[in-house]
Amino acid sequence: MSGETALAAATQDGKAHQPAIYFDGITNRRHVVELRLGANLDLAEDGVAIASWPYEDLRAADGGHGTLRLRCASSLPLARLEIFDPAAQADIRNRARFLESERGGSAQTGRIVAWSLAAIVSIVLIVIYGMPLVAERLTPLIPLSFERRLGAMADNQVRSIFGGRTCSNAEGQAAFAKLVETLRQGSHLEMPLQTEVVSSRIANAFALPGGKIYLLNGLLQKAQSPDELAGVIAHEMGHVSHRDHLRMMIHRGGVSFLTGLLFGDVTGSGVVIFVTRSLFEVSYTREAEQNADAFAIETMHALGRSPAPMGDLLSRVTGAEGNHTIGILATHPLTEDRRALMRREDRAPTGPALLSDDEWQALKAICELRPAG
Ligand SMILES: [Zn+2]
Repeated sequence: MSGETALAAATQDGKAHQPAIYFDGITNRRHVVELRLGANLDLAEDGVAIASWPYEDLRAADGGHGTLRLRCASSLPLARLEIFDPAAQADIRNRARFLESERGGSAQTGRIVAWSLAAIVSIVLIVIYGMPLVAERLTPLIPLSFERRLGAMADNQVRSIFGGRTCSNAEGQAAFAKLVETLRQGSHLEMPLQTEVVSSRIANAFALPGGKIYLLNGLLQKAQSPDELAGVIAHEMGHVSHRDHLRMMIHRGGVSFLTGLLFGDVTGSGVVIFVTRSLFEVSYTREAEQNADAFAIETMHALGRSPAPMGDLLSRVTGAEGNHTIGILATHPLTEDRRALMRREDRAPTGPALLSDDEWQALKAICELRPAG
């Protein structure tokens, strides 16, 4: 088989194009990246995924002759991708529907007018009702597509923070996906969920708006059974189901975030940073925590499993680390009444184990390097 045939075959899979140049928008380092055209445009450096750009967020930026220069509306504003390969350029032009949008003058003016109006309306509402109530009332009105955009934006930031330290042991990934899918069905959550385990010593797990669930190896290693971990993940799913991220962001972000949300334009760098910080730094309200616990307890009971082990895992984390400025207890503090409720809801298991022993061992070992050969 000639080299050319191999390339053409691979291109149909959406894999091999000539490398492109990527600037991450923070440093001026040139990254030579491989393009993977799958569900998103994925950028990989030395085989490690470093960014994932949704096609609908791709925009043409000014480029030199013969070069396609792209930015991504849900990524940092200065991030750029330069593509020289004509076949890759054509593939991307076919998939990116809004490549040429946001360049025209009249659309721009219309948007500014709309923004100003929205800002005024928001200020009036906030003055009359106060921010918490506005957040409460507005959250259910915001379409899921905005939430998914927020999620995609946050996911790009999370990926760059963890620098591709995804744990990719296939059996472990399958076990985690199974656990999350079982919980999703038990909870009757409609939204499809994605999962990722990351190699980090921080004991944490979090869900992004739009339904991506991250588990950090530090928490996984502290868990002694699937039920312990399942309860914590179900609690995170509770926050997704109740759209707590979105409510909190509206509450804290105030007028500018609100107007951005209303018009689907969440592209400013301030917003990107704000979304990411909100995910990591902010505690939910006491009420949101109680609701997420109730969701977790109901889900575990529906599957015939006890929610009590969740409390055991969280208090083990408390015992091991003195300070909780980072990790799961910073954003979801384990108060005495939360702990007492989980104990009260303890039941003898009536449903099947959520993972087999082998699956649990595979999950626990997901971040271990596999022996060569
Ligand atoms: Zn929580």
